[in-house]
Amino acid sequence: MPRKRLFFSLPVLFFLVGTGFAETPIIVVDPGHGGKDPGAVSRGLKEKEIALAIAKRLVSSLKQKIGAEVRLTRSGDRFISLEGRDRVANADSCDLFISIHTNASRRSDAEGMEVYYLNKATDRAAQKLARRENQGDPRKEKEVGVIVSDLIQTAATEESAELARRVQQSLQQRLKKKHGIDSIRVKTALFYVLVGAKCPSLLIETGFITNPREGRRLKKGFFQKDLADAIAEGVLEHLKARPSDGNL
Ligand SMILES: [Zn+2]
Repeated sequence: MPRKRLFFSLPVLFFLVGTGFAETPIIVVDPGHGGKDPGAVSRGLKEKEIALAIAKRLVSSLKQKIGAEVRLTRSGDRFISLEGRDRVANADSCDLFISIHTNASRRSDAEGMEVYYLNKATDRAAQKLARRENQGDPRKEKEVGVIVSDLIQTAATEESAELARRVQQSLQQRLKKKHGIDSIRVKTALFYVLVGAKCPSLLIETGFITNPREGRRLKKGFFQKDLADAIAEGVLEHLKARPSDGNL
């Protein structure tokens, strides 16, 4: 499908000119899991449902704050493979790819948000998480390991790290006090879905649905909106700070 031309409001137009975007940035938002794959499940909460609700709010925030063209990898409760998600991302040139998930742990007091970009896993928890998010396919883990060693030096990885930092800062500023979140970390892991997207990418674990307090928070509409706004603000800061040569 050809890239749509949109009519911009003045502030959005100034922003786009200022960042050197000759065209509307295309951002792909990927709600994790779906259909037969519920993701993590705890006390009646399903990761696939929370991820979709947050992703839909993120689409609105990104359109409103950035004037971006935003695509969802799934807009309903349907199963889509990791490769299928990347096909959506790469169907037209994507500028950024953001995958939304919720975390889970056997420890009910495990808490906090994690903003991941693709790189070698830095701790065992991240390795375990990658196993779950890679749909339990060990071949995928191996494959990702090989691909990542080639990718690590590329500009996309550097830009993903920078994007992760900006999003984390925005989450800290906007959510920490207001919603009493103690821990918002930037981490790295070998996520298969991030390898295939041919643009800078993030995977955000928006909280632990196995933690009763965080589970209650994650299903509330006003928290989902604040969270989506904070992510979009971080993306905006990132786009503003990018060199204006338009290289994506
Ligand atoms: Zn997940």
